[in-house]
Amino acid sequence: MAVIRNTRSVRAVLEIFNSSKNPYSSVQLIDYFKGEMNKTTVYRILDRLRDGGVLHSFTDKNGLQWYAKCQDGCSSHEHVDLHPHFQCKDCGKTECIDVDFTLPSVGGHKVESAEFLLVGVCVDCLEKSSF
Ligand SMILES: [Zn+2]
Ligand SMILES: [Zn+2]
Ligand SMILES: [Zn+2]
Repeated sequence: MAVIRNTRSVRAVLEIFNSSKNPYSSVQLIDYFKGEMNKTTVYRILDRLRDGGVLHSFTDKNGLQWYAKCQDGCSSHEHVDLHPHFQCKDCGKTECIDVDFTLPSVGGHKVESAEFLLVGVCVDCLEKSSF
């Protein structure tokens, strides 16, 4: 059971996620807080927020970890945000995709989490390339 202490550092991380529903990669966050917190602290806060049902995370095609704000219904017991994530292979833009998908049933196993990464070209990059 994760207890999230509402320290100044935790609040600073939360502020970023509250101001935008876009995902941020661990590298972006570490860079953002450079000079304020070290890498280990950033990772520890992200882990804690994920265990607490505040953030969900996924891995991109390069193995990089991304974090985004959870929707209502997530708790320290369970994450209910089963949506795909999209990553643009041209500009690297990454987003939560608000569609439901159903997990395939896998004979008798209890599935607790799933990651579904869609890779392609985003709207902006498509527009640019059409000129
Ligand atoms: Zn969640
Ligand atoms: Zn793009
Ligand atoms: Zn998401």
